[in-house]
Amino acid sequence: MAKATKEQANYRRGTPHKHCGLCTMFRPPHSCTAVEGEINPTDLCDYFKRAFSRSERWYGSKKD
Ligand code: SF4
Repeated sequence: MAKATKEQANYRRGTPHKHCGLCTMFRPPHSCTAVEGEINPTDLCDYFKRAFSRSERWYGSKKD
């Protein structure tokens, strides 16, 4: 499957609790399996999917 462009994914700056570095699709140091181009771990897009972690319990049920 082809990757989406940053425009299609609505790629933008991330937030402290939501960013590429926490996403299951992020591939260090600067790529992503879903979005093409150079990906910054502190940015974010609409395909964000949080990797499981201890903080999931506290933040997982919130809207954002
Ligand atoms: S938030 Fe989007 S751009 Fe960032 S790693 Fe996840 S899928 Fe890729």
